[in-house]
Amino acid sequence: MKRAKHVPQRSCVGCRSVRAKAELLRIVRTPLGEVRVDGSGKLGGRGAYLCRNERCVEQAMKQKRLARALGVPIGEELIEDVKGWLAEAEKRKAQSDRATDS
Ligand SMILES: [Zn+2]
Repeated sequence: MKRAKHVPQRSCVGCRSVRAKAELLRIVRTPLGEVRVDGSGKLGGRGAYLCRNERCVEQAMKQKRLARALGVPIGEELIEDVKGWLAEAEKRKAQSDRATDS
């Protein structure tokens, strides 16, 4: 019996390319109406997805696609949060790369 492995896919609101959900960064509007970066991908609420790079974040912001996807206005603070998150993720990655090297 053949079983197709199902990989959930989502499209980036910045560049519109479709990728595996796990490769994207989820931004969520919580039931309380807060918009935040969902690094775990598990928060409840309405989500939008972005590639993990600043270009897509800026694109999504400029074109107001993030605001449209989430149904709320998006402020610069969120963009800063996203960039901060990306920088952190980059740092963690660099650290684990070094750990495996030594
Ligand atoms: Zn993208």
